[in-house]
Amino acid sequence: METAGPVLSVVVPMYDEQDVLPIFFDRMRPLLDGLGIGYELLVVDDGSRDETADLVSVAAKDWPQLRLVRLLRNSGHQAALSAGFRRARGEYLVTIDADLQDPPETIAELLATARDEDVDVVYGVRSDRSSDKWLKRTTARLYYRLMCRLVGREIPFDAGDFRLVSRRVVDAVNALPEDGRVFRLVIPWLGFPSAEVKYVRAERAAGSTKYTVSKMVRLAFDSVTAFSAAPLRLATWLGLLGGLLSVAFVIGALVIKVSGQSIPGWTSTVLAVCVIGAIQLLCLGLLGEYVARLFQSSQRRPQFLVGYDSLEDHGHHSYAE
Ligand code: UDP
Ligand code: MG
Repeated sequence: METAGPVLSVVVPMYDEQDVLPIFFDRMRPLLDGLGIGYELLVVDDGSRDETADLVSVAAKDWPQLRLVRLLRNSGHQAALSAGFRRARGEYLVTIDADLQDPPETIAELLATARDEDVDVVYGVRSDRSSDKWLKRTTARLYYRLMCRLVGREIPFDAGDFRLVSRRVVDAVNALPEDGRVFRLVIPWLGFPSAEVKYVRAERAAGSTKYTVSKMVRLAFDSVTAFSAAPLRLATWLGLLGGLLSVAFVIGALVIKVSGQSIPGWTSTVLAVCVIGAIQLLCLGLLGEYVARLFQSSQRRPQFLVGYDSLEDHGHHSYAE
């Protein structure tokens, strides 16, 4: 590809990562310098409230390949990755977490695999998750199982957001109009030729997880609603079942009335109200998820706003993408 840009863009989303940042840079720099190719290390600061952005700016003073893009507010991991995809200029793009759970040493292997096997995507696949807590492991397992079924394509098991993609993939992702992208699903769904590289997932090097429970739930909902109408169908089936139940109930009540026992059971009435009420609420909730998604995309709001890019002239801001 004939671009003036670097061969490799390494995109790192960071949210309040001041604790891990110095270690991350110390480990990253010799590795990237040692690759012997033009690169950029693109930090997407996802609206950190701590010193993250300042520390990056200071480090960039004697590290010309280090580039900072600051989002105006915390927009979430996937949105920060979207920002990275838009801004990166490399022929290849690697996304990696800031907390050193994804070993930077593996980047060289990802790149070599992409070139040797001539593929557009190289997934980093965790060969074991023993460093994760039990709850995280279990929810992750359930998540990947479900997603394979929903997306209807091979989703590499235990592949997070540590991966390499080619420029072709970056352009394809950027051309997708949808919001609320879940990269680990969208990329397999695109269907470019791919390969896998195994790695051992380490402990977080410093600081604490930035994935709150609510962010994980958000990711799960986005994952499901982005790729499947199956829950909507489930709602239909439940509705049907509820309908049948109430028909049976009405017939039963009529039979009781005809047979002369004119006082129907209070308990069964309450039970029926509860069952039907529950089913209706469940269906409404599921519909709500889809309606919310339609609503959000119909608004066409930007997913993220870039406040600063160390590459651009100061004073010339283009906030929206
Ligand atoms: N992150 C982000 N915005 C957020 C939450 C997380 O940019 O709102 C970044 C975070 O700084 C890290 C990566 O996403 O580089 C993965 O987050 P973390 O390691 O906390 O998640 P975990 O490994 O616990 O799932
Ligand atoms: Mg982590």
